[in-house]
Amino acid sequence: MTETRMDKQINDIFQMLLHSIKENTNSRLFDNIFGDDSFELKSLEGNKAIFVTDASSTAKIIKDNYLSLIQSSLNEITQSDYEVEITDRSSYLKKKTAVEAASHTFFKNSHLQPQYTFDNFVTGPSNKEAYLASLLAVEKPGRNNPIFIYSKSGLGKTHLLQSIGNEFLIKHPEYKVLYITSEDFVSEFVKFIKGNKNSEDLKDFFSTIDILLVDDIQFLTGKDETQVMFFHVFNLLIAANKQIVLTSDRSPSELKGLQDRLVSRFSGGLSINITNPEKETLIGILKMKIKANNLSLSMFDNEVLEYLAFNYSRNVRELEGAFTRLLFSMTIRKPEDKINLKFVKSVFEDDEKRKTKAGKIDIDKIVSVVASSYSLTESQLKSKVRTRQIALARQIAMYLSRTILNSPYQVIGRVFGKDHTTVLSNVSKIEKESKENPSLRKALDNLTNQIKATE
Ligand code: ADP
Ligand code: MG
Repeated sequence: MTETRMDKQINDIFQMLLHSIKENTNSRLFDNIFGDDSFELKSLEGNKAIFVTDASSTAKIIKDNYLSLIQSSLNEITQSDYEVEITDRSSYLKKKTAVEAASHTFFKNSHLQPQYTFDNFVTGPSNKEAYLASLLAVEKPGRNNPIFIYSKSGLGKTHLLQSIGNEFLIKHPEYKVLYITSEDFVSEFVKFIKGNKNSEDLKDFFSTIDILLVDDIQFLTGKDETQVMFFHVFNLLIAANKQIVLTSDRSPSELKGLQDRLVSRFSGGLSINITNPEKETLIGILKMKIKANNLSLSMFDNEVLEYLAFNYSRNVRELEGAFTRLLFSMTIRKPEDKINLKFVKSVFEDDEKRKTKAGKIDIDKIVSVVASSYSLTESQLKSKVRTRQIALARQIAMYLSRTILNSPYQVIGRVFGKDHTTVLSNVSKIEKESKENPSLRKALDNLTNQIKATE
């Protein structure tokens, strides 16, 4: 509802009300009390109707003599159930400013950043559903409540959430959008408690919100008091059919440390996962970035985009970072030709080196993972100590070196100070036992995954 329509409506209601009071009052009295134009209907919000007069004495007279008449007439006119408050103008203004000041300091960190829009969000199979759900939040607010978007970091959650807020304000400039990270929510809430503000103020504040966007809800885990508060806010808005959109780095059921009732509330709407972007989406994002920087696509060899999309495929934020680095190198080195693979590789030389180093699995890495998994030191594992526990861990490390790396028995032997026949017999022993012993098999699988995960 727009401000002006609202004012007009209030004025219409007020005129009808005056008419009705006049009909039920001695006309001389009416002129004395209501005739000087100072009596005014200030606001109709929630279930409260606030009237003001200039003088506090007039407010008192009206309150003492006409309150029930005003209340019944107003409720008849509006077919509602308003509670009437009559006050003088200056008390009204003081109170109003106090409420506004409170809501300004409260959540003052929440703001929308205009650079995030639906227009510059590139879609593909990995994020299409999340994108559509976000559009729906704007088009049909309240229909799916809440909308819960989750993904690993850097895949566009904040971008979408901010786009919802920005688009919502374009469509409904008079609405109030609250975008907030759950970290800010926690810290604001703590401030709020410390300031001993009463929870009615907080409720009042949230009743004015038309759409609530909470980013990274996982930071609410473990914060019990804030969760209780959030639960109330959540219910308040859902009951009023106001759209809520939440994002998180994991699905509702994986949010350990979150009260069950919140988890079940979060799962009660539409939950959507953004998965790793496919190559086409990443290339689409790069192309968009190129245009956004006023560059021409023809300046870049196709291989360049492929290279970036391949090497920075798990996180759009990193892809953007790499692209920015490339642009930076272009301004410094001013290549004359098209940007080709050779140029890009030279820009990312450091990354290339680091990757080969970090990505390489060698026997040392296997020793390190196995040792820490059995709470041993690496030197214990490589020593000649033959306690049962250490001997088993050592045999496992040898077995994994053989199965994962296919290292020659001699090479493995050198690391563990054994000859190649000992290595061979240890590897066979573990091989045989793992077939008979499912828990050993499981342990080997876990270790293998762990070793490969560090790739
Ligand atoms: P998250 O909140 O999931 O960690 P962000 O929304 O912050 O991720 O995204 C990281 C960066 O990548 C942002 O700059 C964002 O604009 C950009 N980004 C992510 N996905 C897309 C996409 N599909 N299209 C365009 N830009 C994207
Ligand atoms: Mg984010």
